[in-house]
Amino acid sequence: MARIETPRPIRGTQDIFGDEQRRFARVLEAFDHVRKLYAFQRVDLPVFEDTQVFARSIGETTDVVSKEMYTFEDRGGDSLTLRPEFTAGVCRAYLTNGWQQHAPLKLVTSGAVFRYERPQKGRYRQFHQIDAEVIGAAEPAADVELLAFADQLLHELGIADGVTLQLNTLGDAETRDAWRNALVAHFEKHRGELSEDSLVRLDKNPMRILDSKDPRDRPIADAAPDIDAHLTSEAGDFFEKVTKGLDAAGVKWTRNGRLVRGLDYYRHTAFEFVTDRLGAQGTVLAGGRYDGLIESLGGPATPGVGWAAGVERLAMLLEQAPEPEIVAVVVPAGDSAMEATTKLLATLRRAGVPTDMAFRGNLKRRLAKADAQNAHIAIIVGEAEIEKQEYTVKILRSGGQQAVPAGRFAAVQSSVRQAAWERDKAASVSTVLVNALGIGEDE
Ligand code: ATP
Ligand code: MG
Repeated sequence: MARIETPRPIRGTQDIFGDEQRRFARVLEAFDHVRKLYAFQRVDLPVFEDTQVFARSIGETTDVVSKEMYTFEDRGGDSLTLRPEFTAGVCRAYLTNGWQQHAPLKLVTSGAVFRYERPQKGRYRQFHQIDAEVIGAAEPAADVELLAFADQLLHELGIADGVTLQLNTLGDAETRDAWRNALVAHFEKHRGELSEDSLVRLDKNPMRILDSKDPRDRPIADAAPDIDAHLTSEAGDFFEKVTKGLDAAGVKWTRNGRLVRGLDYYRHTAFEFVTDRLGAQGTVLAGGRYDGLIESLGGPATPGVGWAAGVERLAMLLEQAPEPEIVAVVVPAGDSAMEATTKLLATLRRAGVPTDMAFRGNLKRRLAKADAQNAHIAIIVGEAEIEKQEYTVKILRSGGQQAVPAGRFAAVQSSVRQAAWERDKAASVSTVLVNALGIGEDE
């Protein structure tokens, strides 16, 4: 028979397992926890959309649309694109579902996104983003809230040290036009020294030259005029409200007048959380205000602001994640103990105790494995034990052991489950809060 070749994984994709998986999951858990603290609702959206959703809103001249999208024709002849980011899809959903009635709407989502890029550390073709958006709020308080949310998430993950919030304003339409003219005048003087990519940008979107990573462009981009001289008083006022809000919320930031965003739809606030701990892929979270986007999708003028972060990049910054916690391991001493073991396993798991049992191996090997799993206790179920209706519980860390009557395992049930359940109930948080504030519930 011919040898069967195993299909290869797709370049730029990852199989996330073990310690990597645990760090990945921690990012998503922290994100879900913090979004609840900020009263954001979760939405789940399709992985693919009509190509127009991205082409129109992100901008035809951006890297994402011009080089990085996974676009294909389906069997019905429609042009579909695997989402390269979330914002455009969230705005499409806002319009096609009539969510205007709920505006302003605070939404989060997360999942896989796809970009045809050159794979390297921290840069993949399928990667994952967490994403937060506020649609229908023109107030600077929305920008402040999103930035405080991002900042608290980084603190929650323990990675805020060494990550800096860089902030800029791209102004309103009038500001942008004036700044754009000043930029074009500056870049025109250096036409001969710019990279080929930037020459194209000069015609189509000169602001993006500021963002260029090409070393030929850097000195010219760094010497380009700042937006500040062109800010209208409205745009300046808006930016001041955002920075004052951040100060009041205790969110540290620095101004980066060179910061522009890769996508065309941004206005006013633009920001990136940047670290030097990830080499060239140093931006972990980025976003801004996109007041023109919904119109570009055929909707009414609607303000929006949001951010996205790469889950892989955040996960790379985390300390090694602890192994999953196994509390108990049940050890059957021989086949005749299987029935009692299965029953005990079911009792413990239904009571909310993380419990494992190896499928094979003698007593010694099973105990060694329980040790390696970092379990707290091993419960040995032998024939003699079944006879006496009591099991031997071994405390693995100390090595001490004692006999426990079988009936006690069943009794444990309700109290453990209650404790596990209460931990994440908002009701118990309010009780603690009310007590801490010293206010009576019935006043
Ligand atoms: P970069 O300049 O690194 O290409 P970007 O400006 O294209 O980033 P955004 O579109 O703002 O990135 O996406 C938000 C976040 O998603 C980034 O800050 C980064 O953390 C992450 N990200 C972007 N592209 C990739 C990728 N190819 N692989 C992994 N993470 C990515
Ligand atoms: Mg990119």
